[in-house]
Amino acid sequence: MQNSKHISRLHSKTCCVLIIGIIVVIGIFSGFMFPQFYYIFPLGITPKPICANQSLEFCQINSSQQFSKYIWMITDGTSYEYIEKLENHFSDHAKVFVTHTERIRYSVELYKTWFTGTLNDRMSYKKIDCETIFGTFKRSGLKSSYIGAKYVQGIFLTSKHWEDFVSIEDHDQQKKQHVQPWPFFFEDGNEGQQRFDKYLDDVVNQDISFFAYSTVSDHIIHKDFTAYKGRNFSESAEHAVLVYDRINFMKQWIDDHPDILLIIQSDHGHDEMIDYRCEPHGTGLHNNTGWQILYNPRLSPEKSLEMESLDIAATISNYIKTGPDNDGYINIPANNLGIARNLFERASDNLRAKKQSLASMLYLYDETKNEWMNRGMWRKNQILNLIDERSVIVNNIRKFVYNESIYDVSNSIQDELNIDENGYNNEGQFSEQIKQIIDSNSETVLKSKAFEEAESNGIYKKALSHYKHIKEQAENANVQLFQAIKTFDIPTSQREVYWSYLNTYFLQILLAVVLISQFFFVDMKVM
Ligand SMILES: [Zn+2]
Ligand SMILES: [Zn+2]
Repeated sequence: MQNSKHISRLHSKTCCVLIIGIIVVIGIFSGFMFPQFYYIFPLGITPKPICANQSLEFCQINSSQQFSKYIWMITDGTSYEYIEKLENHFSDHAKVFVTHTERIRYSVELYKTWFTGTLNDRMSYKKIDCETIFGTFKRSGLKSSYIGAKYVQGIFLTSKHWEDFVSIEDHDQQKKQHVQPWPFFFEDGNEGQQRFDKYLDDVVNQDISFFAYSTVSDHIIHKDFTAYKGRNFSESAEHAVLVYDRINFMKQWIDDHPDILLIIQSDHGHDEMIDYRCEPHGTGLHNNTGWQILYNPRLSPEKSLEMESLDIAATISNYIKTGPDNDGYINIPANNLGIARNLFERASDNLRAKKQSLASMLYLYDETKNEWMNRGMWRKNQILNLIDERSVIVNNIRKFVYNESIYDVSNSIQDELNIDENGYNNEGQFSEQIKQIIDSNSETVLKSKAFEEAESNGIYKKALSHYKHIKEQAENANVQLFQAIKTFDIPTSQREVYWSYLNTYFLQILLAVVLISQFFFVDMKVM
């Protein structure tokens, strides 16, 4: 009896340790691993080039507008309000985009969006887990180097992302108040000038493009705000003129090196006082916002006043050559959600670029769906219902992206006109008119043509409505697809994840608690 009691206690002790051990292991697994895995999704999808096989129609673009080298200069926090002189100087061969964001305008968040084409994630200070535009450049065979402050990009780039640059030169611009933009080039006396010459020489002779990041302007806007409480930004405005003074010579320089694309940008405007409260980096209204100037003598002058910062990665990618043998193809960052806002010479190219953006989103959607399929039973039914709901929309988008070429559009217009029996029978002349409309780049031109011609034969009106329908379909598709992907991305906070996890496993958890308490109850009675 004595002996048996001893064995029973020993037995119960081992059991107890074992069960507690199992509970701890399961607890750690379910408490951290699984919800965490869910939480970080869908950023973990492995990037894959959409145009890898390059047989798709929408991967081909007007190659005379693409470049195998670039010089990309950012002046952080120089408001569009103040760059009139700079814009006028470059405007005869520039694509100008005034950029906006409806989300947080902190530099880190903006650059995350700019470089990846994904939405910023509410100041999480998480490192990104997807391809950046510099990775895309590398994939296209371009070499890039980085010069400037590293501390902003360093918040979200991992060491793997930094490997996309062949060289990195860190110049922290916080330690003292600099006067000149890009002080490592323009403030360091002879040394700075030599440094700049070396970078320019590397682009020309070594085919190493460069990204130069100046934070001086951002420091000045905050200094101005502190000093004048938002009433006066005179020093910021003066700095924008210094930007012009330092780099206006680049216009002639690029004209002499027309194989290089020049990109000059700022991410946001200055702080604003709204109802006695500071709106960091401004509201984006009244031209107090970010901007981009893409300059090359081959580009025709065009300007867009409304570009969402989500579209920057896709748009810039389209101006980059994808390698010596791949004339006219485009590579867009793998997880990009933005629309390519290219102001190309031909509207059909514009549509192709948009189709490719959509294709990369379709890829993301498919990967998201596959991930959910492979994820076992947890919340599976709920997610599969969502997938069913979305599949109709997504399949329509897929049809549009992969099947309906721009040439089918002109055919469908023609068919419809034949059915209408409107008496128009000169097919050659008709096709020419349709071609003009589809190739036209400007919506204003389309509208005025349609207005002029609508009364006489009704053709332009019809063609315009078809063209606009396709265009709208592309725009809306992007939004719909994004919403479809977003649905899988909920819940977004850790607490929500734990709560839904608790809900899902409520019965199992209750059962486990009952079993465990029963075990302790029995054990104590034996003791
Ligand atoms: Zn900034
Ligand atoms: Zn700032």
